[in-house]
Amino acid sequence: MHSLHVAAGYLHQCAALQTEDDDMRVNNKIRFQQIEILEKTYLGARPALNFRNPFELLIAVILSAQCTDKRVNVVTERLFKRVNTPEDMIHMGQSELESEIRDCGLYHSKAKNIMLACHKLCEEFGGSVPDDFDALLSLPGVGRKTANVVMSLAFGHPAIAVDTHVFRVSNRLKLAVGETPLEVERGLQRIIPKEKWSAAHHWLIWHGRKVCKARRPLCMECPLCAVCPSSGKIV
Ligand code: SF4
Repeated sequence: MHSLHVAAGYLHQCAALQTEDDDMRVNNKIRFQQIEILEKTYLGARPALNFRNPFELLIAVILSAQCTDKRVNVVTERLFKRVNTPEDMIHMGQSELESEIRDCGLYHSKAKNIMLACHKLCEEFGGSVPDDFDALLSLPGVGRKTANVVMSLAFGHPAIAVDTHVFRVSNRLKLAVGETPLEVERGLQRIIPKEKWSAAHHWLIWHGRKVCKARRPLCMECPLCAVCPSSGKIV
């Protein structure tokens, strides 16, 4: 995985790009190069959330909204010792759940959605997390991002979940341009081969976290700088 080394080659390429081509046109040839570099750099990238089954993953992803995965892992390590099924969660009750997940932020609305989702899982899906995108979307607190993560990581279906990192990096690279996560998701699905969708989600997340940060991206250390139209342009 990319280790933030400043490779001399990247520096040379970046310098050339910034002086010679201020308005890079991103065509599919460049997009394929971007995908190739991402794949090489982040080969084997894994999800940062800890989980042992689809239910734990679903809860962890709901808790991860506006919270770091590291903090979610601390909270769920404790929580999953007490609850491991929707029935356990209902039995625990909302106020007890709120105190368990307080460190994740937005704990009141997250606890409310988790309780409602657990009731629905018990009443309509036999107490299991459904292996179906639309059924997942019907659960309280579950949007496209969460449903895609569960489809991909829990059930092994090709899916690209667009979170804040995927959205930002895709737009900066012009790998997929869009004003909404759905537009970016559709754009990524068009350009990335289907068998690589789930892996590409991790490449883009790790790149956004480690290099192409929201503020002050590390363009001069970026392996994509020679094929990125935003290189050196974001302050
Ligand atoms: S870090 Fe800079 S060069 Fe790399 S993808 Fe982000 S904007 Fe482009």
